[in-house]
Amino acid sequence: MNNDLIVVAGGGGFIGGHLVEHFVNQGYTNVRSVDIKPLDQWYKVSEVADNVVADLKDKANCATACRGASQVYNLAADMGGMGFIENNKALCMLSVLTNTHLLQAANDAGVERFFYASSACVYNADKQVNEDVVPLREADAYPAMPEDGYGWEKLFSERMCRHFREDFGLVTRVARFHNVYGPFGTWDGGREKAPAAICRKIIEAKTTGGHEVEVWGDGRQTRSFMYIDDCIKGIVDIMHSDIEEPINLGSSEVTTINGLVDLVAEIAGIDVPRQHNLDAPKGVNGRNSDNTKIQQYLDWEPGIRLKDGMRKTFDWIAEEYALAHETEPVASV
Ligand code: NAD
Repeated sequence: MNNDLIVVAGGGGFIGGHLVEHFVNQGYTNVRSVDIKPLDQWYKVSEVADNVVADLKDKANCATACRGASQVYNLAADMGGMGFIENNKALCMLSVLTNTHLLQAANDAGVERFFYASSACVYNADKQVNEDVVPLREADAYPAMPEDGYGWEKLFSERMCRHFREDFGLVTRVARFHNVYGPFGTWDGGREKAPAAICRKIIEAKTTGGHEVEVWGDGRQTRSFMYIDDCIKGIVDIMHSDIEEPINLGSSEVTTINGLVDLVAEIAGIDVPRQHNLDAPKGVNGRNSDNTKIQQYLDWEPGIRLKDGMRKTFDWIAEEYALAHETEPVASV
């Protein structure tokens, strides 16, 4: 029903902000968006939603947030790109409080469905040592050897969802996101991920007259990147599916980090010399999403091409960069 209460935890963040906007655009009149950040730091603020600033690690705040809700989407986590998660493992692990207390509150409130945003960082590191990547199947999370800190928290929280479903009958759905990118996300400050960081560095090079661009690692790491619109469609479809086990939600269009730099340089219309920082955090060597299951269940997989999504992301970051540095925005070609 369009007036059922939908709660989006982490609604001030990148994916949560887009999800709130999606529900509002779909005509939902009762959307509550909750985030720990002050409102002026939210990427998107809906005029229609009930916007709440609260720390969801706190159990009482979760109870207040979930009161009267029919669906809860948990997108709240203390997270960032490799530079953040490799150096802030305790903070990443503390997000376990958010999901645990939200599950308890949702169950107590009689919520109908609960969505949890997991990550490809749950996958066993031994399956990701080669750049010549074999796409990760859902079963590859076990035996468990996830990313230290962040990945362990995600794996544990996935299991909490499973046990709340099995023991208490709360309908839980879990998607393992593979790198999500797009406008209205973090692009500087230390939490940004590779697509946004590369856009910012190349925009900076173009604005200031072509300096060297630093690339973390040798650039041969392979990854896939999912555009935000595909992610939002996937979240909603998975939430309303009968998929009980965690499922991949990611693009299967694989690229290297060097390939991503080439693409952004082409969008910017400049040549950039690169300096590879081999001491910087670079993550696993190879990672891609096996989409057999999502194809089977939903007859769909994320399909927005990297070059199309990156152009929109580049243009948005160029505007933000210009505002922050009081310069003219550089144009894509
Ligand atoms: P984001 O950092 O932009 O959004 C997360 C939001 O959660 C932030 O606005 C943050 O302030 C909020 N938050 C953190 N702790 C909170 C707390 N205690 N109480 C209330 N709010 C809190 O990140 P995102 O990219 O939008 O990611 C959303 C979810 O998707 C996260 O769970 C993340 O781990 C997961 N994920 C994202 C990606 C990706 O590529 N972006 C990949 C895999 C998984």
